[in-house]
Amino acid sequence: MKIICVGRNYAEHIEELNNTTPKEPVLFLKPDTAILLKKQAFFIPEFSNNVHHEVEILVKINRVGKHIDKKFAHKYYDEIGLGIDFTARDLQSELKEKGLPWEKSKGFDGSAVIGEFLPKSTFHDVNNINFRLEKNDKLQQEGNTSLMLWKIDALIEYISKYFTLKIGDVIFTGTPSGVGKIIPNDALTGFIENTKLFSIKVK
Ligand code: ZN
Repeated sequence: MKIICVGRNYAEHIEELNNTTPKEPVLFLKPDTAILLKKQAFFIPEFSNNVHHEVEILVKINRVGKHIDKKFAHKYYDEIGLGIDFTARDLQSELKEKGLPWEKSKGFDGSAVIGEFLPKSTFHDVNNINFRLEKNDKLQQEGNTSLMLWKIDALIEYISKYFTLKIGDVIFTGTPSGVGKIIPNDALTGFIENTKLFSIKVK
C-alpha cells in the first residue's frame, strides 16, 4: 500500500505557515514504513528539534482506479479515518528553501499515524465532518472537511491522474490550522465528532 498526502488544503493552515495558496493540490508520498505501529509510542527522531503534529482526515481506498472522474470518486472509498502527519518542520523548511523534495521531513519512520476507520455510512455528508486533536487533554487543532480547498472526491480525481490508486491505499487529506511542536510525554488524542480514533504517547 501507499500513503498519498495532500499539503496546503486548508486556508488558515496556509496562512499560519506563510505559504501561498496553490492552484492545484500539493501532493507527496510517505512509504509504508512511515506507519506508526498500533499501540506504539512516537519517538521524536534525533535529526529534528521541531516535530509538528498535523491532524488529518484519512480516506481508505477500496478499489483499483486511475483517471477517476470526480463524479465516480465516491465509489472508491467506504471508510473515513483520522491520523497524524508528523512533520520535522525544521528539516522541511531547510528542504523547501533549497527546493528539494520533502520526503526526509515527512516520510521518516513513525511519521504516519493511522487511527481507526469509520464506515462512510456513519456520515450524512463527508464534506461536513468535524474532527479535532487534543494535546494533553486540551484542544489543539480542530477542523471540518467543508473547509478543505479540494474536497475528498476532487482529491481522488486529481491524485489518480498521477498515481493509480490501489486497495488499501490511504489518503491524508491535509491539516487545518493549529499545528505545533510536540515534546516528550505529550499525549495526542484524535477525534472525529465524539469518537476517539487514536491516542499516541510521545517519547
Ligand atoms: Zn500534512
